[in-house]
Amino acid sequence: MRDKCGGAANLRTPILKVKRCPECDADVEIFSTDVETRCGKCGFIIYNELESCIQWCKYAKECVGEELYTKLKKQ
Ligand SMILES: [Zn+2]
Ligand SMILES: [Zn+2]
Repeated sequence: MRDKCGGAANLRTPILKVKRCPECDADVEIFSTDVETRCGKCGFIIYNELESCIQWCKYAKECVGEELYTKLKKQ
């Protein structure tokens, strides 16, 4: 595993973030490894911006591990 990527660190260690639902303004918790989550209040699907090496790093597969890479790249 490489440790160069700040983005990959977020994916290897899930971090709980709080986002705001654009529909009902409720706070929605999402892990940094989740691609999407559903607002507990209105059911709106909120997508995680993966500001991670998956998007731009050519070593992404090594950075985050093949399993997670395949899972995230698919969606
Ligand atoms: Zn909502
Ligand atoms: Zn990377």
